[in-house]
Order: sequence, then C-alpha cells, then structure tokens
Amino acid sequence: MDKYLLFTPGPVNVAQTLRAAISKEDICHREPDFDNLLRSIEHKLISLFQIRNRARYRAVVITGSGTAANEAILSSVVGKGAILILSNGEFGDRLHKTSVIHNKHTHLLEMPWGTPFDVAQIEAYMAAHKIDVVAMVHHETCSGMLNPLAQIGVLVKANGALFVVDGVSSIGAELIDMEVCHIAFVSSSSSKAIGSYPGLSFVAKNASSN
Ligand SMILES: *Cc1c(COP(=O)(O)O)cnc(C)c1O
Repeated sequence: MDKYLLFTPGPVNVAQTLRAAISKEDICHREPDFDNLLRSIEHKLISLFQIRNRARYRAVVITGSGTAANEAILSSVVGKGAILILSNGEFGDRLHKTSVIHNKHTHLLEMPWGTPFDVAQIEAYMAAHKIDVVAMVHHETCSGMLNPLAQIGVLVKANGALFVVDGVSSIGAELIDMEVCHIAFVSSSSSKAIGSYPGLSFVAKNASSN
C-alpha cells in the first residue's frame, strides 16, 4: 500500500505499472538505445498533442519542472518582440513574472482568479498594440478553470502573433489540439495529469514558428 496519498495536482501517486517500467535495465545516455528512447518519447508527445501533420512539429524533453519548460519558451521565442500575457490565476501570474525577467516588452491583461477572459478586450488590446507572442495557461490549476484554447488561438492567429500555451496541468487529462488551436509552443510536465514521476517537462512546437 502507498505510504500516503498525494492529493496535489502533481506530483501524484504513480501506478504500479510505471514503477515496474522504471526498474528496467540501465542504459547509457550516449548510446543508440537512449537516442531510440528519446525518439519514441517525441513520437508519443506529438501524438498527445493530436498532431496529424507530424513533419511540421517537434517535441523536446527538458530535465526540469514545468516551470523550467515555461521559462525555456518565454526566454527564447520572444526575442526583441512584444509578448502579451493573459492571466486569470496563480500560474498566469507566474508566466508574467517569468516573462518580465526575460522580455523587456511584456504586456499583461489580467482578470481576477476564476474569471473568464473577455475576448473583445483582448481583441481591442491587440489592435492597439503591436504584439508578437501571446501566452496563456490552459488549465488554471489554482481555480480549476479551463481557458478557451480554440477561441484565443483564432484571435492570436488573426493578429499574426504566436500562441504559447502552458499545458502543464491539463495535458493527459484534457485534449489539446495544437493544429486546430493554432498553438506555436505548448509546455507540459511528467508529474501532473500524465501521471509519472516529477523531474521532466516537455515543450512541443510548430516547426514553422521561428
Ligand atoms: C504546476 C504548474 C506549473 C509549474 O509546474 P512545476 O512542475 O511545479 O514547476 C506551471 N503551470 C501550471 C498550470 C501548473 O499547474
């Protein structure tokens, strides 16, 4: 029996099948066995994001938490451009705090926790400011609410910007269709709804995004 039950969104108690899988033979990370393992993980991640046109997408594994995956995106895709963070909770706020460290032109549209975004307000904001990247949390873990990926994705695309999504607590539980929602970059982590051990995170990207 488990020593204790974890009721956090992550880390979670892992399945016995996962415990068994992790205790297979050791492999060397400089050998083809590891390359093959990494390639098979990338293949599965691309499937997880519902991608049909596989040649246009890549997925990478990051040896860090979900926060590291978000920081990897925010510190590398904005460049000298402007980014708009949409926040209606704790993790949206964290995207903003991280972006401010890396991007001089960080804009913020904020709603109180648990309050849906006002699409007309975002549209007006983007019409009035030159925005190159928009970042948003999919599942706001603090309130349990889902933000509308498809609706915001269409708006971001119509304005010629890149859409960045924090999918850390949703992927594995909720469907994320990168192609349909026009998502350029999405983060996820091993230890929430994917149900594995903490310590790894993932970024999937549309290869034509930069
Ligand atoms: C938990 C969480 C994070 C941070 O992930 P860590 O693995 O704890 O660093 C980021 N975004 C969301 C939406 C989360 O739920």
